[in-house]
Amino acid sequence: MSSAPAYPYIPGNRFLHSPGPTHVPKAVRDAMSNQPMDMGDPRLDGVIRGCEQGLRRLLQTESADVFLYGANGHGAWEAVVVNLIAPGQKVLIAGTGHFSDSWALMAQAMGAVVVRTPYCEGFPIDANVVEQVLREDVDREIVALFAVHTDTASSTTNDIPALRAALDAVGHPALFVVDVVASLGAAEFSMDAWGINVVMGASQKGLMTPPGLAFCAVDARAMEVGKHNPAHRFYWDWQLRKSDFSYRKFCGTPPQNMLMGLQAALGLIFEEGVEHVLARHRRLANAVHAAVEDWSQEGSLGFLCQVPEARSVSVTTVLVAPGVDPEKVRTVAREQFQVSIAGGLGPFAGRVFRIGHLGDLNPAMILGCLAGVEAALNRCGVSVGAHGLHRAVQSLAE
Ligand SMILES: *Cc1c(COP(=O)(O)O)cnc(C)c1O
Repeated sequence: MSSAPAYPYIPGNRFLHSPGPTHVPKAVRDAMSNQPMDMGDPRLDGVIRGCEQGLRRLLQTESADVFLYGANGHGAWEAVVVNLIAPGQKVLIAGTGHFSDSWALMAQAMGAVVVRTPYCEGFPIDANVVEQVLREDVDREIVALFAVHTDTASSTTNDIPALRAALDAVGHPALFVVDVVASLGAAEFSMDAWGINVVMGASQKGLMTPPGLAFCAVDARAMEVGKHNPAHRFYWDWQLRKSDFSYRKFCGTPPQNMLMGLQAALGLIFEEGVEHVLARHRRLANAVHAAVEDWSQEGSLGFLCQVPEARSVSVTTVLVAPGVDPEKVRTVAREQFQVSIAGGLGPFAGRVFRIGHLGDLNPAMILGCLAGVEAALNRCGVSVGAHGLHRAVQSLAE
């Protein structure tokens, strides 16, 4: 008659420091526990409108259309490709590491001709290289430039205005599309002021909502390009989804409880104040960077991102020396110290671990995370000195 629990009891909290999914605030979990509504209930339209308006406000766009999908980030990527790029057309994807590679593979699979600029490990996008490729496209065959704001694998944040400047310097008409999955709600972002035509994102990172909701924000120019794009599509189609009726907006039943969660999360962001949210991310990132910098003195690990100004406020990728097994550090951190961190993706697998520091976090949580990671590093015999955590405390106390 014994019924073993699916999850054995662990005293206290497990600290979730993956760069997505991130910690979900109680207010968001509570909002998601509401009953779904009948499709004609005006309150449902209110929830959807709340999400659309909140995202517009956070993205800093006056008039972009917001399309929400019951999907993850890959779904929004596919929506972008199928709405904007017909098979055989060209798209330029700026190399940022694993996530630009994955987006490129998807676009290729969907028939796009993908031109890529190389990713130089440890460095952000070089806007000059992008500009050169645009300049050489004399027949203006490139329909769109795709760029990832923060590449979560390399923990590098790219200079988005510099890419807009590259397009403008060449006078290239390509649409500018930016992936903000890992940066929205953590780093400064301004869709209209930065001249971006399409933005895509997902719920489970800076937006503090469980995985399962994605969005595209689309300006009038991109809507017009989409209208004339002959690529076959239905479910993801922006023209079909542009409607006042929720059933059409979602091409069927809206993912109601996910939307309730997102609405609550956006409410928390505006209650704290966007500027305060961004400043908090900066402070917490500084503390993580202070610890990693100190740990690095012993030569067993270091920052993957070589350009301090480009280090993300959302996540920090830590490169380990040969002989150190980051997966072991990760397992020890999770199983013995209740701190969940992330591993390496793509070419970084087995070479890095990643500390997520975005979303619903405060100084005590970051210190707990760093303490757990430092203890795991010690337990694994990785020499990191004894002052990393202290440096983080000092950084936060400044
Ligand atoms: C997480 C992430 C994605 C993919 O999101 P999924 O929800 O896992 O599909 C895309 N781009 C970036 C920058 C990400 O960090």
